[in-house]
Amino acid sequence: MYSAFLIKYAEIAIKGKNRYLFEDALVSNIKYKLRNVDGEFLVRKEQGRVYVETSGEYDYEDTVEALKKVFGITGICPVILTEDEGFDKLCETVIKHIDATYKDKNFTFKVNARRARKNYPLNSMEINALVGEKVLDAFPEMKVDVHKPDVVINIEIRKQINIYSVEIPGAKGMPLGTAGKAMLLLSGGIDSPVAGYMVSKRGVTIEATYFHAPPYTSERAKQKVVDLAKKMSRYTGKINLNVVNFTDIQLYIYEKCPHEQLTIIMRRYMMKIAEHFAKESGCLGLVTGESIGQVASQTMQSLVATNEVCELPVYRPLIAFDKQDIIEVADKIDTYETSILPFEDCCTIFVAKHPVTKPNLSYIKKSELKLTEKIQELVKEAIDTVEVIKVEPEEI
Ligand code: ATP
Ligand code: MG
Repeated sequence: MYSAFLIKYAEIAIKGKNRYLFEDALVSNIKYKLRNVDGEFLVRKEQGRVYVETSGEYDYEDTVEALKKVFGITGICPVILTEDEGFDKLCETVIKHIDATYKDKNFTFKVNARRARKNYPLNSMEINALVGEKVLDAFPEMKVDVHKPDVVINIEIRKQINIYSVEIPGAKGMPLGTAGKAMLLLSGGIDSPVAGYMVSKRGVTIEATYFHAPPYTSERAKQKVVDLAKKMSRYTGKINLNVVNFTDIQLYIYEKCPHEQLTIIMRRYMMKIAEHFAKESGCLGLVTGESIGQVASQTMQSLVATNEVCELPVYRPLIAFDKQDIIEVADKIDTYETSILPFEDCCTIFVAKHPVTKPNLSYIKKSELKLTEKIQELVKEAIDTVEVIKVEPEEI
């Protein structure tokens, strides 16, 4: 029954002179997101508002599901847009709307009228009172509660009259493409997809780099990372995924360096290589799924050691998150089930029994001197043989 959605956004509204850039990005992201949904959609801006209008049949559930994945939207309101055909007609439409939307009429409500057009014959207070009365006449089970109503019936007198009472929560954040690009270090775990999602939520476009170690890690482990990127891309849009063969570097470090330092040294090379691709493609930062104290390589001391190799800022959105809180987000964005599939990841194969938890940077650097002979060549080889997979969302 709804032929339109009113799209609410919050933070964009405070962007001053640049506001139109954010709104335009939002409109184009909505259009992109709806391209695979059944139906015809017109997405348009009007006086600080965005509307999605449909003509004819469309898939309501899929439309809402798609809109829920567009960053920058705080609320999705199925709305009735009508011309001003007099007050009686307005009341009739409101009553029809209530009847169709709420099977059980046992709830409290208030009418909340606003006039953008001041030449309407009634003021807001009068509209509230008069529409309220008509609603009570039509549905005596309903009760008015102006302080804490179960349902707010919004009536906005604008160019057209807007009637809505349902607001579906949006993804929030900022529209994609309004904040530059970042390189996510994407593993097959729970954390890094969540980290990528969170940074992307601030409007940042995401690229990703995955390090694998065939034959120690399988084709299925790689496919799992591709699947995770696909899941993420429902929110982040297309992702260029760099798959880097890390085996020779790992074996070389394993051969030359103390085993308790393996993870840290490996991590440092991962960061360096990811940064290379980041700079090459114009990314302004790196993103990881690290969180203080989660494992030996994520103590504050370890983070000093891994951070040290990077020139670009390293964003760690999960830094103060507990695992349980990370899992909650993973669940919400539907990456969790994929993340827990039991495929080996390249770090679990070369882990030491007793990794250092408080690495000393000068010792680490000293160990790395043992790599001087071949490491540059191996890094170059890893970079030159990168496989780039263009990941696009398959589901809404
Ligand atoms: P995740 O759940 O994201 O795998 P984790 O708890 O397993 O994290 P670590 O293995 O210590 O943690 O990795 C920390 C971070 O380093 C990851 O969040 C990810 O950003 C990056 N990382 C680890 N392994 C890889 C890999 N094979 N390829 C790309 N990035 C990786
Ligand atoms: Mg991991």
